[in-house]
Amino acid sequence: MPLTSDQRAALAARVKYAREMGLGDFYRCEPKDIRHLETLQPVDTRHAASQTHDELPVLNKSAALTEILDDIGECTRCRLHKGRTKLVFGVGNENADIMFIGEGPGADEDKQGEPFVGRAGQLLNNMITAMGIRREDVYIANVVKCRPPDNRTPEKDECDTCSPFLMRQIEVIQPKMIVALGAVAAKNLLGINDSMGNLRGKIYDFKGTKLVATYHPAYLLRDPRQKAEAWKDLQMVMRELGMAVPATKAKD
Ligand code: URA
Repeated sequence: MPLTSDQRAALAARVKYAREMGLGDFYRCEPKDIRHLETLQPVDTRHAASQTHDELPVLNKSAALTEILDDIGECTRCRLHKGRTKLVFGVGNENADIMFIGEGPGADEDKQGEPFVGRAGQLLNNMITAMGIRREDVYIANVVKCRPPDNRTPEKDECDTCSPFLMRQIEVIQPKMIVALGAVAAKNLLGINDSMGNLRGKIYDFKGTKLVATYHPAYLLRDPRQKAEAWKDLQMVMRELGMAVPATKAKD
């Protein structure tokens, strides 16, 4: 049976994002499965309280996040404040199941005060969309909240000074899954000093919350061949959360 124009559009969107993620061939599936694409709804990634946490649910997450922001204040705790235009706290759904954590703001983020709004952010948005959800469904934050000069890697003392605020954000959001984007985030959260190639592809326990480490979108822009590996990590996240995983296979 020929596809309707809506079915074609739904299929084309999925294929476009899969291509973005470096995916090649698709498995053949029955027409009934193709029709299903049209009706795929984003998985509801919001939840009242995480069941993987022993902690009590945070009843007023907005107020709790505002309190953290107030405690950060006009921060001068480390040298990064000197080059700051805007502090980049975090953005997204406070009831998100998935929390993405990057390294630190770049130039665009510093201007706008929001994480992942530049080119790397565009790719992150595409990665999130490929998972069948929207940027507004997840929560996004960074290890450091002020832009390091010339986008250098944040130093250990800068991460140590800033990360208690990130820990508090995680405690408030209570995600079911943390996705650490890049080695800085992964190493800071896990306390493991290893290459990204070794850190990725596994599920870790971060204080009772599942954590997956994958390549930073900025790295994927520099080396798009790794997009297929990053997509495998995201598929692992989707499987862990019981989300529908599209039947695709990565290019060899
Ligand atoms: N890279 C990051 O790690 N975080 C951002 O917010 C933007 C780029």
